[in-house]
Amino acid sequence: MINNSELSRPLTGGNLYEPAELNNLRDISEQRLTHRATAESKNLIPLYCEGVKNSPVKLPSNKVIHHELTSTPFYYSEDVSKLNQRPQAASSKKEYTGFHRVTQELRHISTLVYSGGKKILGINLKEVQVAIVSGEIHISSNFHAERISEILLKSFNEDKELLLSPKNKKLTHVNKRTSRHIQKTFRLLDENYFQTIISKGREEIKKNDIPDKCRISIDDLCLQFEKYMNTVFCALSMLSSKDISCFVIHIPTPSLPQDVAVKQGVTATRHAERNIIDYIATNKDEILMKSIDLLSTNSSQIIIIPIEGRFIPCGFCYEQELLDKSPGGIFDPNKEGLILFRSTKRAGKFYANEIQYISHAGFSSDETQSKALAMKLLSDIKISSEHLSVLKMPLNTDTSFNSDSE
Ligand SMILES: [Zn+2]
Repeated sequence: MINNSELSRPLTGGNLYEPAELNNLRDISEQRLTHRATAESKNLIPLYCEGVKNSPVKLPSNKVIHHELTSTPFYYSEDVSKLNQRPQAASSKKEYTGFHRVTQELRHISTLVYSGGKKILGINLKEVQVAIVSGEIHISSNFHAERISEILLKSFNEDKELLLSPKNKKLTHVNKRTSRHIQKTFRLLDENYFQTIISKGREEIKKNDIPDKCRISIDDLCLQFEKYMNTVFCALSMLSSKDISCFVIHIPTPSLPQDVAVKQGVTATRHAERNIIDYIATNKDEILMKSIDLLSTNSSQIIIIPIEGRFIPCGFCYEQELLDKSPGGIFDPNKEGLILFRSTKRAGKFYANEIQYISHAGFSSDETQSKALAMKLLSDIKISSEHLSVLKMPLNTDTSFNSDSE
């Protein structure tokens, strides 16, 4: 049960909110949910953006970021079978409790965007990854990322019913789960349900449900949990009113190298999470300062970056994240600063017949060193080196879905 004091307690969002602004925003959400957006509510929208703009820290303000990949090193193999990964059945279900509730919401959004691409536009984004970075929701996909904004807007407005309708009469296990994820995303906009999730998550965190290796106090973790959940709530509420300004879309723009361009079936991309992480690594100081500013905290210099997708990271992306998290990397857990947080520790397969561009900006703050680490990783993959961590781990087969849990 939620008591009155909890309900009246100001929500703490990823973006700047004063209680008065928040009350206005709540009003807006209710109006939008019932499709009764009024002139007054429209007038209040800039207050939200104002908070972001007023931050003393400047980040690239464009909401669509193109990642040009022409001179970026890449991984390509026609045959990955020599990368001797050890298949095993999917691991047991995960419980999304405490801070994991944030990544659960991000996972639901990734399902929604992927499914929206299929149902509304008839395109296959293959994989979608979603992260919260200094008060905004960052999304990228392996393919067709340039259509994500359109998918989001249509999914929450004119094509909402289409999205919610069953994909086909054959309701498989996966189809049912997809449907549940989409329904839960919309359900989050129910204020009572949202408050219940906040209340449950806070209690779970207080019972010491702290992410691994995360040297953060329970109070700071609660603060970030509430802010991030509020960021999701506000972003989705505004989307229902065709306002996409809380989202940042990352679009990889690769080109096929000459020597493989003629081969049939070869595609080129940088995987979804690597585009988002490349942006974070390139703007890390500004992101850290802005996040501390938005959280209004003096106590914590540890900022969690939650990220989640439909799938677990593929072998190549997993190895890159390990380097990001190594000593000297952008997400070194032994240092204060930015911490990347996923709800999974599993790694997926390497992809054949796909050119995948690397993002090495997070491997080291020294550019020469980060490039050297990138070339070593690419070389290790080529020779199936024992240094590759994923070869020592069981490979989750079949779908490589995030897990069977919600
Ligand atoms: Zn990948």
